[in-house]
Amino acid sequence: MSGITLLLAQALIYFGVMAALFRLRHVMGLGAFLCALGVMHFLETYLAAVFFIELPFGLLSPGSTVLFSGKLAIILLFYIREDAETVRQPIYGLLIGNFLMVALVATLRLYGDPVSLPGYNPDLVLIDQMGALMVWGTTLLFIDSIAMILLYEKLRRLLPESIILRACLTLALILTFDQVFFFIGLHMVTGTPMGALFGGWVAKMGAAVTYSLLMALYLSLFERSVAEIAPQPLSDIFHKLTYRHKYEELLGKTGHDALTGALTRERFETLARVTLARGAAARRPVSLAILDVDHFKSINDRYGHIAGDEVLRRVVDCLRMEVRAEDHIFRYGGEEFVVLCENMPHETALAAAERMRVSVHGTLANEFAAAPTISIGVATFPDDAGDIRSLVAHADAHLYEAKRLGRDRVVGNIPGAEAAGAERG
Ligand code: GH3
Ligand code: MG
Ligand code: MG
Repeated sequence: MSGITLLLAQALIYFGVMAALFRLRHVMGLGAFLCALGVMHFLETYLAAVFFIELPFGLLSPGSTVLFSGKLAIILLFYIREDAETVRQPIYGLLIGNFLMVALVATLRLYGDPVSLPGYNPDLVLIDQMGALMVWGTTLLFIDSIAMILLYEKLRRLLPESIILRACLTLALILTFDQVFFFIGLHMVTGTPMGALFGGWVAKMGAAVTYSLLMALYLSLFERSVAEIAPQPLSDIFHKLTYRHKYEELLGKTGHDALTGALTRERFETLARVTLARGAAARRPVSLAILDVDHFKSINDRYGHIAGDEVLRRVVDCLRMEVRAEDHIFRYGGEEFVVLCENMPHETALAAAERMRVSVHGTLANEFAAAPTISIGVATFPDDAGDIRSLVAHADAHLYEAKRLGRDRVVGNIPGAEAAGAERG
């Protein structure tokens, strides 16, 4: 059998079985398809590294040409029919599974050589070489897969009509990238001759054409009725592929403000209510400080919003240094923050607020030309107010007073406290 016929036959079988499993995903579940994809990976890397055949244009490895290229094609097909959130599952699964495997093998090798058994000849050099190649190959596969999907989407805007041309170009470019970098690793680990670089590349270009034809055939025969998902911004797809949006969602769900890391206003509404109720039950005071950055608008105007954002971040850092572990800092509005202190009487809260003011004043003067300062109003439950709304209103009136008196100061119920800032200022 000629080499090319053999490769084509293998590609047909590989794609046929994998596409059939994919097609049956609604009957068998996606798990069957994903397991098949994953389980083929280990021997595939081995084959790609050691089993070469000679064709008129050079040396090539069927493991690389048929199996590796095929896997990328199948991942692309998977993406085209499903979406970024689904396709990232095998992309991460393959990466983590293979790294785990290599780590386990590496720890096993600490034990030394295995017991030798008659008629059995374990190839330890191979095991060690495979470890390095698996790490390299799997890392490349991870990069390839993500780059492939982004490239496919990019080409979608340039070639809106033709899936087949888009898929073919995408596979050709990604496989070229992969060939160069995988070969570098292969050459360094096993000393594969340079002839295999070009031969393998030609073969992969053949694979790109073959697989995109097969993919187009599959789509037109079996999934014609389903429209491709609407194009999305590349950054959204990237965020989905890398689970970044999950991370951001998580920040949102746990109620932290993305810019400063302070708790969100939504969290304040629930947490403050609970805290006051606990304070009422235990007959203990709860103090609340509301603070606002002075002349923040002009900081933004003079130094830009990026610098403004950095000021907000650093203000929160300063506050954190001065509060107890159990106190909560919320971002109440744009440049307004609330600090909620359970079981803290008014005088103690005033002292804490004063420390915050001094910290912001002293620390940030060294960091920003604008030398940002804050004004703070303090109120305490239950003396100043019996519910959370009135408590905020009371503290807010003190904040307003602090602004009126010239800013960079703390105002509470105890006369004289407000003079503190002015004396130093
Ligand atoms: P005052 O001393 O009276 O508080 O003066 P001010 O300039 O701070 O007054 P104001 O509270 O009206 O200004 C708030 C400004 O904060 C306006 C808004 O553009 C800016 N701002 C709100 N949120 C953000 C943010 O997340 N980043 C940045 N850079 N600026 C913000
Ligand atoms: Mg404000
Ligand atoms: Mg302000």
